[in-house]
Amino acid sequence: MLLSQDPAQRHRLQRYFMALGATVIVVAMLYVAAWARFLEWRDAHAIAIFAAVLAAVIFAVLRSGLNLRMPDPSLSREMIIASLGAILYGVASARTGGSALLMMVVLPFVFAMFRFGRRGLLVLAALVIAVYAAILVFRGDLSGPRADESLAVLLILGLTLLTFALVGGTIATLRHALARGQRQLEEALRHTEHLAMHDELTGIYNRRYLEQRLSGEVQRAQRYGAALSIGLLDLDRFKEVNDELGHAAGDTVLVAFVQLAGKLLRESDCLGRWGGEEFIILMPETDHEAARVACQRLCAAQRGQQYPGLPRSLSVTVSAGVSTYRAGEAANVLLQRADTALYRAKVGGRDRVEGEARAADSPGTAAAS
Ligand code: GH3
Ligand code: MG
Ligand code: MG
Repeated sequence: MLLSQDPAQRHRLQRYFMALGATVIVVAMLYVAAWARFLEWRDAHAIAIFAAVLAAVIFAVLRSGLNLRMPDPSLSREMIIASLGAILYGVASARTGGSALLMMVVLPFVFAMFRFGRRGLLVLAALVIAVYAAILVFRGDLSGPRADESLAVLLILGLTLLTFALVGGTIATLRHALARGQRQLEEALRHTEHLAMHDELTGIYNRRYLEQRLSGEVQRAQRYGAALSIGLLDLDRFKEVNDELGHAAGDTVLVAFVQLAGKLLRESDCLGRWGGEEFIILMPETDHEAARVACQRLCAAQRGQQYPGLPRSLSVTVSAGVSTYRAGEAANVLLQRADTALYRAKVGGRDRVEGEARAADSPGTAAAS
């Protein structure tokens, strides 16, 4: 009820409650001052009411999410300035001895140290010193018999707040370094995750990812009775390309094949590199016939493929084996059937697509023939 589900808002509300705790302490100290007779009860009440109303308003704004429309959704600037204002009002209303209340301006400064940089803190310090100096002038404290004492207090306040601003600046630097480190770490993690799932040469999914994905797709097909086909593809006589034109030419052919497949396949199909010059296409919601057609289209396109920087006469064909999921079977059985079909395509002369051996072998897949 008090906090929020959104982590950022939650964090802001937690900070708010810390500030609320500090406010309660300040108000309590003002009542101590009233009890010690250097502040009027009336003034203590006034500040307490101001603090309570402000706390309620800020809580409502934070909890309702209205703060998200503001430039700084933490509202810390508003809270810090308001509390400094309240404390200085107490200082201004206090009689002699009221300078003891000045010690409390340090509390908002502690919060400000986690929010502002060096420049912001210096401005805040200058503001507080100026207001206190104005209070002294207004009361005539800088010209009367106790002028030296007042001047000394002003100097002490100034040096204290200056120190806070400088140390706060260092904290801000550390904070930024920490945030930068965290961002770099997140970026490195994203990069590592990408590497773990993708093939470096072609940029498509790697075998590790595909194995996981295939078992997921098999589970889905099993649970919902949806169709699922896979195509196992292997570039023909690829070793010759390497031997005759070099490994770099082989790489160019692999990349070009992947680009071609990317253009021809459906959005829902998942292409990956299964190993060396072998690729796999997972085709969810695709029956056997449609999967064969997709692979045949790729096979035909590959036949006329040209490669940048390689002889125009170079032709690298592809063979494919297609299999379609049968209820209850394991992923490796599905893979095994695609591999057998691929073997038949190779033996049958390459540059072709083979599917399930016979319609009778695949009951339940009407399109298997
Ligand atoms: P087949 O038609 O029977 O598939 O013959 P093939 O020559 O394609 O088959 P084989 O398995 O004998 O050769 C595959 C070759 O693929 C051998 C290997 O050097 C090459 N290869 C595997 N990975 C890469 C790679 O990343 N880059 C390059 N350039 N070649 C690779
Ligand atoms: Mg091979
Ligand atoms: Mg091959």
